[in-house]
Amino acid sequence: MNFLAAAGVRRLCAMRAVLPCLWRGKYFSSGNEPAENNTVTPMLRHLIYKIKSTGPITVAEYMKEVLTNPAKGYYMNRDMLGEEGDFITSPEISQMFGELLGIWFISEWIAAGKNAAFQLVELGPGKGTLLGDILRVFSQLGSLLKNCDISLHLVEVSQKLSEIQALTLTEEKVPLERNAESPVYMKGVTKSGIPVSWYRDLQDVPKEYSFYLAHEFFDVLPVHKFQKTPHGWREVLVDIDPQVSDKLRFVLAPCATPAEAFIQNDETRDHVEVCPEAGVVIQELSQRISLTGGAALIADYGHDGTKTDTFRGFCGHRLHDVLTAPGTADLTADVDFSYLRRMSQGKVASLGPVEQQTFLRNMGIDVRLKILLDKTDDPSLRQQLLQGYNMLMNPMKMGERFNFLALVPHQRLHGRNHQTNARQSKPSPSPVAGFGELAWQ
Ligand code: SAH
Repeated sequence: MNFLAAAGVRRLCAMRAVLPCLWRGKYFSSGNEPAENNTVTPMLRHLIYKIKSTGPITVAEYMKEVLTNPAKGYYMNRDMLGEEGDFITSPEISQMFGELLGIWFISEWIAAGKNAAFQLVELGPGKGTLLGDILRVFSQLGSLLKNCDISLHLVEVSQKLSEIQALTLTEEKVPLERNAESPVYMKGVTKSGIPVSWYRDLQDVPKEYSFYLAHEFFDVLPVHKFQKTPHGWREVLVDIDPQVSDKLRFVLAPCATPAEAFIQNDETRDHVEVCPEAGVVIQELSQRISLTGGAALIADYGHDGTKTDTFRGFCGHRLHDVLTAPGTADLTADVDFSYLRRMSQGKVASLGPVEQQTFLRNMGIDVRLKILLDKTDDPSLRQQLLQGYNMLMNPMKMGERFNFLALVPHQRLHGRNHQTNARQSKPSPSPVAGFGELAWQ
């Protein structure tokens, strides 16, 4: 862990917008906030046609259309992150966040036997800020990684955000290669010479030894919502309001729907949200990690199978009615970590979820903050560092609501990595960083 002292000292810190911005983990909502904007958006018109022709749609279908419809989806053609956007995320708040995650990947790479090559795969990379901070740590620790062949693989559906990521990571010093028809729709080379490729789907990323990262990715995947009724579980659907033209409303399905199969038999809550797409991604990650090694680090706001109605919208750093002006606001639901763990089906070992404040403290954020503060006399930089730290760590802010979950090969916890011959003696496994208290050597 003495990486911390070495990493990132040359570049002190970049000014990042912090306050007063809203982070999406903040509130619960039943979607009943007063409508602020009654515009009939192109997405609303599209949904109304769709519902008129085929009937009410599931909340999952609604969420998927609104967020990622290729032509009109919220995520497709805008930059929603930061002060000017709709919400803010940890990497946009402080460089310390990405730096500590960079150290986590290096620490896992070392613990698993310093493979000669690895892919770093990020799901939903936003502006590329997190990867930028991770890569800076990789550069600072260049002597450790100098013989390691690293490549970056970004899974991103948004055209606009992929362009921003490319600019952040490559500065386009080497021209990008684009091919909209190919599963690898863009390729480039980072400022530090690392090849980077863009995909729309995790399935298309080469099945090689990889470290996977998903920060605030699972919460945007579509959820089905169910309500317990005297007649059993009924799915919540989105329909046209018969009283008001051009307005949507929630209704309950009159009978059981196929998605009901996702509800656990022993479910005790009376309202549940299930995200089958998250299950598919976790199964794919678990399969890959069990076959090739590596690890996945998942960070998001969420719960462990206890919360009920968490579907909500954000627009301009304010809560937004989920059914109003669709396509202009972000939609999100808390991640059910117990479901993610269940979906790994025992193929990998899971650690966590642990709260963000615990994970970052275990990773040494206090030391990192001190190093950065000691390096500057600029009052505004110092204030920005302290505000960022407070936002990430304060239990009333992001410290408790955000959680970290890791997926690692079973061998990782039992002292044998992929390259170790079964007849070799078993080294004792090192603890997985972040999930136990930091031991200073
Ligand atoms: N990880 C970033 C951004 C979080 S916002 C951060 O923490 O700052 C969610 C990100 O996931 C965006 O980049 C969005 O375009 C992307 N995204 C949303 N749905 C997706 C999907 N189905 N497949 C791949 N990326 C998706």
